[in-house]
Amino acid sequence: MSKNNPFLSAQSQMRTAYEFLAWQYDTEFAKILYPERVIEVNIPVQMDTGEIRNFVGYRSQHNAARGPYKGGIRYHQDVTKDEVMALSTWMSIKCATLDLPLGGGKWGVIVNPKELSERELEQLSRGWVRGLYKYIGPLDDVPAPDVNTNGTIMSWMVDEYSKLVGRWSPGTFTGKPLSIGGSLGRDTATAQGGLYVLEAYMRAMWDTLAGKKVVIQWAWNAGLNMIELIAKTGAILIGTSDSHGGIYDANGLDIARIVELKKNKKSLEEYSGVEHITNGELLELDCDILIPAALENQITSDNADKVRAGLILELANGPITPDADKTLFAKGIPVIPDILANAGGVTVSYFEQVQNNTNYYWSRAEVQEKLKLKMETALAWALESAKTHNVMLRTGAYVVAMKRILEAMKVRGM
Ligand code: GLU
Repeated sequence: MSKNNPFLSAQSQMRTAYEFLAWQYDTEFAKILYPERVIEVNIPVQMDTGEIRNFVGYRSQHNAARGPYKGGIRYHQDVTKDEVMALSTWMSIKCATLDLPLGGGKWGVIVNPKELSERELEQLSRGWVRGLYKYIGPLDDVPAPDVNTNGTIMSWMVDEYSKLVGRWSPGTFTGKPLSIGGSLGRDTATAQGGLYVLEAYMRAMWDTLAGKKVVIQWAWNAGLNMIELIAKTGAILIGTSDSHGGIYDANGLDIARIVELKKNKKSLEEYSGVEHITNGELLELDCDILIPAALENQITSDNADKVRAGLILELANGPITPDADKTLFAKGIPVIPDILANAGGVTVSYFEQVQNNTNYYWSRAEVQEKLKLKMETALAWALESAKTHNVMLRTGAYVVAMKRILEAMKVRGM
């Protein structure tokens, strides 16, 4: 196993928190250290050339003590089984941190979707559902978008699933387009939820976002939405990046220009008149708030001591390793952890599922109001727990979430 294996990180985070649960759930704890089930599927796809290529995918169903497995589907060339297992574990903890009646799951397919045509991508997505439809459903397992997947892919999947089971089943996937039962506000929910938490955290510290220098790693999806949202608070974006590298301007970057480049699928390399830096250098910029919004293992024992941010908001899943967490804690850099900071996505996914299952749809304002309340309440629980146990916010949130999961397992006699 590699040095920064994300599954070992997830287990280590759970072990740290379990200490504060007074060893009341030993049998249950031994179980949540591992996913309940990991399924590997082979998905043959006829490529445009006529050649058949086989793609490998994993579905990790971590824990369903509190409700159906819930989590996204990732398409990425570097996907590994351990990564999917970690991401599913974090989903269980995330849903419990927010007190959503859901468990945790994750899908990952080893593919670089940029190399596939639209037809090939659709075949892959439908093939995936054919391989796994027996294991999913509104009361079993409810997938959603994640890295490199989106509403279009959810549409193909929900259509394939509904054909296979013989009835329209919108509640089996979330993150769908509005025209087929998506929720208003789901598209920007991860960033919006992150901003609600960040603003509430600043208020708790008697501070505000106005004038704060912000760095956002990865101007895409949640990161790009966050760039647009945070600009409206009076904060100043001084650095951001994409897979080609970063851009930096201490006086503030032009948000409209970044959004235009990225929405036209152009690289930030084309943004002229600013300093061009690497993604590594971006993480070491002197700033008030650093927001990693890309993949796991960005801040590790190799660079944690060079981080100069005043506060970190983890919009990505698992961007900081447990070793790096300790270094940051010792340096006095607070971290608003992924299981809280990026939980807006799954929270509005839950709202979407509720709307699908009741066939009654809410206004955008209703969604935002409910999301804000959920995020602020979860932050208050995590802050209180961290204070009680004198630990970092991540551990505080884990203690709250794990108690909920372990207690559900115990009363069910799992
Ligand atoms: N992929 C997102 C996450 O990691 C959302 C999952 C969902 O909506 O189920 O939280």
